[in-house]
Amino acid sequence: MKKHNFSAGPSVLPQEVLKQASSAILNFNNLDLSLIEISHRSKDFVAVMEEARSLAIELLGLEGKGYKALFLQGGASMQFVMAAYNLLEGKAAYLNTGTWSEKAIAEAKVFGEVVEVASSKDKKHNYIPKNYEVPKGMDYFHCTSNNTIFGTQIKDFPEVDCPMVSDMSSDIFSRNLDFSKFDLIYAGAQKNMGPAGTTLVVVKEDILGKVKRPIPNILSYAQHIAKDSMFNTPPVFAVYTSLLTLRWLKAQGRISAIEEVNDKKATLIYSEIDLNPLFDGYVAKEDRSTMSATFNITNEKLKPKFDDMVKEAGINGLNGHRSVGGYRASMYNALSLNSVGVLVDVMSELERTA
Ligand SMILES: *Cc1c(COP(=O)(O)O)cnc(C)c1O
Repeated sequence: MKKHNFSAGPSVLPQEVLKQASSAILNFNNLDLSLIEISHRSKDFVAVMEEARSLAIELLGLEGKGYKALFLQGGASMQFVMAAYNLLEGKAAYLNTGTWSEKAIAEAKVFGEVVEVASSKDKKHNYIPKNYEVPKGMDYFHCTSNNTIFGTQIKDFPEVDCPMVSDMSSDIFSRNLDFSKFDLIYAGAQKNMGPAGTTLVVVKEDILGKVKRPIPNILSYAQHIAKDSMFNTPPVFAVYTSLLTLRWLKAQGRISAIEEVNDKKATLIYSEIDLNPLFDGYVAKEDRSTMSATFNITNEKLKPKFDDMVKEAGINGLNGHRSVGGYRASMYNALSLNSVGVLVDVMSELERTA
């Protein structure tokens, strides 16, 4: 039987998406050719790229609002670089909520001055800073919407008078937001959308073209837009599989339907964490992520027993990030409420039998 997959990334995808993707590897669109052995310029693949780009914009509610979607390579880490290369000339404001923000800040410093408006470092990133000021005159404000490693999630985004940029790698398409508040959104596919190898970039076109430095074509959003996200050979399998997941999401009833399930999953696991004396949540309650639930076991002696029970129940990928330890349940869109139920049963069984 398929495992209950709580892996943080690459992570669980809908079973039907995996089936469709594997059949396209053998025979795509009844062409008697594989998806991965035809030209990316063929009409069949161009249609895939166009549908993936427009469906992403549609699901985010950004149609007709001046946005373009791109499927690029280099991961979210490449976007740490591209965002700054394309937008930063003077100063940019960054909110530091942990590892991924820190990596984004380090890359931005190559291109301009970074103003760190607030940081949760004082408490090992177990909360989201609030009531900070974003100074006037910034080229943009950057934040990480979901802190995949520590398990915090921004619930209220600040009002800013500059473009707003967000790394949404680990919660894109998981909850409804007013996405038109953002001018640049990027997300590595491997958390909530598809296999590793592509990154969704959604950019409002009117923020581009403002920096004076020359930008190499391969790193220029404007160039990728001009070439319809086919500046060079795109990662065809990752884009196609992402398209299948986006179609699946639409068929589920779009983001609002999946958000309802995600809220139920989060309520289920956090109530167990709060009720069960053997477990402690890592994060300040109001900042808990619906995607990434982090917790510790209160009695380390029970860890081997719990780990055995988890394994026995067919649960995969529950270990915390190597930098923090403990446990992390990543509950991306394709993880069922039932799988969270299985984990919660194991946690309460440990309490009963400890
Ligand atoms: C996983 C992750 C990244 C890193 O993505 P890569 O595709 O490996 O570069 C960046 N930001 C966030 C929020 C992530 O969860």
